Amino acid sequence: MPSETQPLSRRQFASDNYSGICPEAWRAMEQANAGHAPGYGDDAWTARAADLLRQLFEVDCEVFFTFNGTAANSLALASMCQSYHSILCHELAHVETDECGAPEFFSNGTKVLTVPGEFGKIEPAAAARAVLKRSDIHFPKPRVLSITQATELGTVYSVAELQELWEVARRHDLRIHMDGARFSNAIASLGVAPKEITWKVGVDVLCFGGTKNGMAVGDAIVFFKKELASEFAWRCKQAGQLASKMRFLAAPWVGMLADGGWLKHATHANQCAARLEDRLSKVPQIEFLSRRQANSVFVKLPLPVIEALRATGWKFYTFIGAGGVRLMCGWDTTDEDVDSLATDIERLLSIGN
Ligand SMILES: *Cc1c(COP(=O)(O)O)cnc(C)c1O
Repeated sequence: MPSETQPLSRRQFASDNYSGICPEAWRAMEQANAGHAPGYGDDAWTARAADLLRQLFEVDCEVFFTFNGTAANSLALASMCQSYHSILCHELAHVETDECGAPEFFSNGTKVLTVPGEFGKIEPAAAARAVLKRSDIHFPKPRVLSITQATELGTVYSVAELQELWEVARRHDLRIHMDGARFSNAIASLGVAPKEITWKVGVDVLCFGGTKNGMAVGDAIVFFKKELASEFAWRCKQAGQLASKMRFLAAPWVGMLADGGWLKHATHANQCAARLEDRLSKVPQIEFLSRRQANSVFVKLPLPVIEALRATGWKFYTFIGAGGVRLMCGWDTTDEDVDSLATDIERLLSIGN
């Protein structure tokens, strides 16, 4: 092993995409690797993965697989919009801040408009205001409400909150897209059936993330409103998202869904974040920047402490303003990892005072 790869082998709290592949996904990939299978999704793994998703959501829906979440989100959004439409999302939404304009690009110019709200959640009244602000022909026509579940700030919309957003969407003829990069963590947090926070509250299309849940790659796009999926296969192909060895995108879903691995891993990641929150809540100097409901903890730390933590080898993101630190747990985070990080934060804070 080259020495420069050593520091990365330590488990980190930077993102749930730092982890490797979980055993369920890995085993399924191995099984899919035994022998030949038809290409471009005409294989048994892809059919089975789609069937398992239909079972999970307890509804007949159309399912597609893409390499990543940016492709899933932007293609799903494009399928619902004309170029003169707009998409409403939270101002911190991945769709707005982290997809390099892909939703606008793949929809040939649909404008993304942002809506504020505490802790990463769109406030229904703010969404309605954004729609009503302009209705003249000089402004793009609002068409889609994009909701991230769990949110970019680690919070989770309750069923009641989703119902309120659906009210707004119905009143203003908006379709609903759900960015579910951490959908599994949201389900683990809420303890409800997946249908309760999707098609039963008006979600038309869900981008269900597999990567952060424990797969190597892959998002499932689940169309609950099936007519929106007409010609979607061509859209995927044109965007370079039709995997010729599709079975390797699909098989991990079979591995994860067949025995509940998706929920087990998300529950574990959430519990690790809860443990971290609990440890840090006992440190008087710690200020929490969001509410922990899924697998991340957001805290404010003095800049010298952030630097010192990094100097001891910890990696984490600080994208939410000065001193804001995101600590993210994944399927393979251990209690020892959490305790080790919490101990280092405690120690560095006490030196600083
Ligand atoms: C990670 C993530 C995505 C998907 O990102 P890709 O890197 O394109 O897979 C989408 N939405 C949110 C909220 C995310 O955190």
